[in-house]
Amino acid sequence: MTRVAVIGGGLSGLSAARAVRECAAQKGVDAQVLLFEKEGYAGGKIRSARSGGFICEYGPNGFLDNKPSTMALVNKMGVTERLVKSNDDAKKRYVFTGGRMHRLPEDPMSFLSSEILSIRGKARLAADYFLPQGTDCDETVAQFVRRRLGDEALDKLIDPMSAGIYAGDPSVMSIKSCFPKVKAIEMQFGGLLRGMVAMQQMAKAKGQSGPQSAGPGGNLWSMEGGTGELCERLALECGDGLFLGVNVTSLERMGAQWKLSLSHGEPVLADAVIFAIPSYDAATLIRPHSEESARIMSNIPYVPMVVLGLGYEKATFGNPLDGFGFLIPTKERRKILGALWSSSIFKNRAPDGKVLLTVMTGGARNPEVTLLGDDELMALVRQELAATMGVRSEPVFAKIFRWQKAIPQYLLNHGDRVATVEALFAALPGLFLGGNAYYGIGINDCTARAEVLGPKVADYLCGAKG
Ligand SMILES: Cc1cc2nc3c(=O)[nH]c(=O)nc-3n(C[C@H](O)[C@H](O)[C@H](O)COP(=O)(O)OP(=O)(O)OC[C@H]3O[C@@H](n4cnc5c(N)ncnc54)[C@H](O)[C@@H]3O)c2cc1C
Repeated sequence: MTRVAVIGGGLSGLSAARAVRECAAQKGVDAQVLLFEKEGYAGGKIRSARSGGFICEYGPNGFLDNKPSTMALVNKMGVTERLVKSNDDAKKRYVFTGGRMHRLPEDPMSFLSSEILSIRGKARLAADYFLPQGTDCDETVAQFVRRRLGDEALDKLIDPMSAGIYAGDPSVMSIKSCFPKVKAIEMQFGGLLRGMVAMQQMAKAKGQSGPQSAGPGGNLWSMEGGTGELCERLALECGDGLFLGVNVTSLERMGAQWKLSLSHGEPVLADAVIFAIPSYDAATLIRPHSEESARIMSNIPYVPMVVLGLGYEKATFGNPLDGFGFLIPTKERRKILGALWSSSIFKNRAPDGKVLLTVMTGGARNPEVTLLGDDELMALVRQELAATMGVRSEPVFAKIFRWQKAIPQYLLNHGDRVATVEALFAALPGLFLGGNAYYGIGINDCTARAEVLGPKVADYLCGAKG
């Protein structure tokens, strides 16, 4: 029998453990998969709080179906009927700028009539069509967007989107690692608008309709019991291979195997080890074996965030909250990143007669906000919601979720540094790199990485056992 140890019980670790079990079985390898998670619960950043008829998310609200891996995972788990699709209204997204909400245009026609950009800003954005293709070098998101679409598009469209996905600062984020599809469109078609026109024509030729987007696109999905249900179900599938409340404290080479020392219990020997932990934790374990990997991993910064789940009486709101929610550009100098109208996105997130908002604070923009105590934070958020949404009532329900190190930031040339770490890992047989610090921070990226690691680890086990 071979043994695989997975370190970290967030979605990356849980989905990788499942993929290894599946691939090893397909290849006829007898593999025991053990998963170690230092906290007393599985799921990491993905956790749902169910209380008083509300379902609040500690972290992600859902995943998009524009990439296939998470949907495929749910289907393979046999729990497709537990999926919930976002309401159609959730396609309406807003940006709060110039003192009011602007609906984000979804197609070129609504873009022309939208007031989110000035006429000058729209003309500058349209100039993208005539601009030459850039080089293949990495740039910051801000450099790329300024070059192609202009300052106003950066400030009012891409800056809030960078905050919404990464809680990040576009002036330091890598375009190639944070928005790889966008950079790929420039490299393939010479420009973003030319790319969108070409993609539209190709889709038409295939008989598909609808506008092509360089942005995220797709429908948002979650589970009936909240996003946390996905990890709860994956954890159940681990059976007695799941060890909660067990910290992996060090890693030692023992012949062809790795010895894991644990905070509780005897050390464990494994043929293969998957890292599915944040890069700063991985750096500590890898340092004795690769100083350079540890240096790179520990230099990946993380931003702090506080997420607030706030319930209100429906009657509080003059308008129906008919959309996904809103994001705020940095230039507005507000203290929240934006808010999701969670009970408008998914059914059953709030009891009858109530609504649920999910407010995001902190990130690269306002890290100091995350240091406020609960009372001060609530007062600040109430002030911000009054200024943006005109909500002046007290919430009838409030939950605060704090993440000191919420989201890893992919800085300029991140991809080169990850390639270096992978090359160094290749010299350490049996160690495999997972987790959201390298190849994408989204739920889909974590499950896509598991799809890569499953066959890779199973092949390694076949080779190692001869
Ligand atoms: C506020 C917020 C909102 C988000 N929204 C979205 C969204 O809407 N859609 C989306 O696609 N993505 C979203 N994300 C991103 C997504 O949640 C994460 O990328 C994903 O959950 C990361 O999973 P992971 O397993 O890689 O890492 P984590 O969830 O961080 O799990 C790592 C685990 O490793 C454990 N660990 C660390 N060291 C050790 C050790 N030595 N031994 C044992 N265990 C250890 C930790 O306790 C942790 O449980 C959001 C993230 C945040 C923070």
